[in-house]
Amino acid sequence: MENPDNHDYKHIVILGAGISGLTAAYELSKIYNRKVIVVEKEPFCGGLAATLHFDTFNVDIGSHRIQSTVQRSIRSYISNTLGVNLLKQRRHGLLCMPGMSFSYPPNLLNLFRTLPLRMSLSYSFSLLERFRYPDDKTNYKSAMLHKVGKRIYENFFHEYIYKLWGIAPENISIEGMKRRKTILNLKSVLKSVAGKHRYFFYPENGTGAIAEALAEKIRNNGGKIYYKSHLSNVETDISNTIRSVSVLDSLEKEVIFSNPLVLSTIPVDELCQTIFPYIPAPPLMWRDLRVVYIHISEQLHLRNETFYFPALDTACGRISFIQKYSPFLNDRCTGTIITCEFPTSQGDQIWEMDDNEIGRLCKENLIKCKILSNTQQIKTVYSVRIKKAYPVYTTTWKESYSSIQRNLSDIRNLFVFGRRGLFLHCNIDHAIRQGVEIAKVVSSNQKLQSQLWKKRADHFSTCSARD
Ligand SMILES: Cc1cc2nc3c(=O)[nH]c(=O)nc-3n(C[C@H](O)[C@H](O)[C@H](O)COP(=O)(O)OP(=O)(O)OC[C@H]3O[C@@H](n4cnc5c(N)ncnc54)[C@H](O)[C@@H]3O)c2cc1C
Repeated sequence: MENPDNHDYKHIVILGAGISGLTAAYELSKIYNRKVIVVEKEPFCGGLAATLHFDTFNVDIGSHRIQSTVQRSIRSYISNTLGVNLLKQRRHGLLCMPGMSFSYPPNLLNLFRTLPLRMSLSYSFSLLERFRYPDDKTNYKSAMLHKVGKRIYENFFHEYIYKLWGIAPENISIEGMKRRKTILNLKSVLKSVAGKHRYFFYPENGTGAIAEALAEKIRNNGGKIYYKSHLSNVETDISNTIRSVSVLDSLEKEVIFSNPLVLSTIPVDELCQTIFPYIPAPPLMWRDLRVVYIHISEQLHLRNETFYFPALDTACGRISFIQKYSPFLNDRCTGTIITCEFPTSQGDQIWEMDDNEIGRLCKENLIKCKILSNTQQIKTVYSVRIKKAYPVYTTTWKESYSSIQRNLSDIRNLFVFGRRGLFLHCNIDHAIRQGVEIAKVVSSNQKLQSQLWKKRADHFSTCSARD
């Protein structure tokens, strides 16, 4: 039911045109039409789930797929409501460890074939001796030692955690284990050994087709999206109400939206700093990502669509082949497009390399894992740097996050959601659900909408993202 109070707001300002922001904007534009304003700093929509259109090919930001665990209603929302055709594809991933590789998701036959008997025995022993370690949940390392034992922990998890998060496993909270069903999550591995999660869905025109369909529907309903535009100021009054939101648009002109209802999906620490510039923001840690796209003339005939590299001996974390996700997205592009993802942090060596240097590093990695040979020439290299791609759950994250939340929760006409708003590892389907649900909450007739959303947000924080 529509909330009559929202008619008193002059604008409904949604910060961020990622999947969650756009879904909320679309749902609200059905009721409030021209009042709906989306502000996005990039020149494109979709956020992390955008498809980038380069001169000669189209690519996603890293490997993106709709997981097989997606709710039926969300699949129907994508296909029927948004009109995005989803292909059903079989997963053929490969998990590459030093000296051996396993199919991913794992299957029993492959595991038996790959693991030498001596190793299988040693890992079984590791599982048995795990009880020698106390049930200590203070950090990732101690929790994992109790869960899988020393041998499995050291061979599979230790380096992976360093690589993914950039800090020692002792400094990661076990929330990092719960909120991300990594490729090395024990439960996921057991489920897929039992035959689950062997397929995925993929929009035939790229992951970004979901955001592009939402953006078009928002425009058709009278809503407006400001691209290349930044939130520059938020005016609040003594009754803890946002009086206006100022945005610097693509021409660096200030646009002021007065009397707004504000829904934000931008990084929660940045939002807090903009609203309360004089309160020092408690530190939240994020992990950044460099994604490199390599185009070669030859058509590679590989069985696998994705290669995962958890160990530190390869700088790259994941390599994927988008043409295997959809044959339609790049049907006019000859040759092979290779996407290489590097977990990194702003200012470190990988972040700073120019495209030629990182292109050379990718080639070395691709030769090392036998995807390319020495003689194959790279035609083009493009790369993007993604800030704040992953929330890092350090052992102190909760205090920092709660303190930010406390500052923001008193503001009557502000709602925070989305991956970077809730500091949450989540998938595209969770982002769509958040968008739909927050639109329901703020347009409902119910009182205490903030408390209602807080409850829903707490529910979302129990969702785990999958690779
Ligand atoms: C490498 C990678 C691979 C992934 N793979 C999968 C997958 O296979 N399957 C899956 O389901 N999910 C996957 N995900 C997760 C998925 O991409 C996200 O959960 C989802 O896109 C989050 O959407 P969102 O709208 O909540 O956030 P975001 O996409 O982060 O959107 C936030 C938006 O706000 C904008 N913004 C930020 N600051 C400002 C500002 N100051 N002013 C204005 N705008 C601003 C950003 O540019 C962005 O567009 C992956 C994520 C990553 C990083």
